[in-house]
Amino acid sequence: MDAHVHLHEDPSMLTEGITVVAVSDDLDSSERTLELDAIKCIGIHPWSVPQSSEGELKRIGNMAESADCLGEVGLDYRFVGSREKQRTFFEYFLDIAREYDLPLNLHALDAWRDVFDLLLRHDIRRAYFHWYNGPLDLIEEIVGQGYFIGINAAIKIQRKHLRVLERTPLSRLITESDGPYNYRGLRLSPSLIPELTVKVAEVKGVSVESVVSVVRSNLHAWLGSKWL
Ligand SMILES: [Zn+2]
Repeated sequence: MDAHVHLHEDPSMLTEGITVVAVSDDLDSSERTLELDAIKCIGIHPWSVPQSSEGELKRIGNMAESADCLGEVGLDYRFVGSREKQRTFFEYFLDIAREYDLPLNLHALDAWRDVFDLLLRHDIRRAYFHWYNGPLDLIEEIVGQGYFIGINAAIKIQRKHLRVLERTPLSRLITESDGPYNYRGLRLSPSLIPELTVKVAEVKGVSVESVVSVVRSNLHAWLGSKWL
């Protein structure tokens, strides 16, 4: 299972045997994602918010009925200014999530707590924190709400992410690559998921088969009954 891939950037990343959730960055990529053979998320990435218009936002909203989920959406306090515009756009997606009962594929870099609080305020039921690297004590609150934590394949070179894996119960985590993003020289892609699954099994002290089966049911719980 790969819960977060920018598949529109390189559809050849599809790997046999790996279920892929495709995310979008803006209007153009949302349109392209809807044509892909994957689970489809549409939205405006926080990094694309400064260059996107309200008109483009509304056009994505009008495409919601054809989508399986919303993402990559959220807030980023590290790399993007214009916090007010980011928040306006994110709250628009939270309203759409409620209206169409769509799950969220979230980006919350250095905005972990604010994103979590907004989910509660908007009464969001199904959410996934992509590549979680927020405060360790927030994990308990996130999983307590029934939301899911993303464990990324970059764990093999990002030590602090290992702490996240240790703190997150297997029943609340989903694996992902964020391909084709390049993290410190590591080209992320769904092909890294088997290796990541072995790592999760090692840290949790269970078999690879049980990781695969639990993560599959987590993915289904997050995305909804349609995928059961
Ligand atoms: Zn991403």
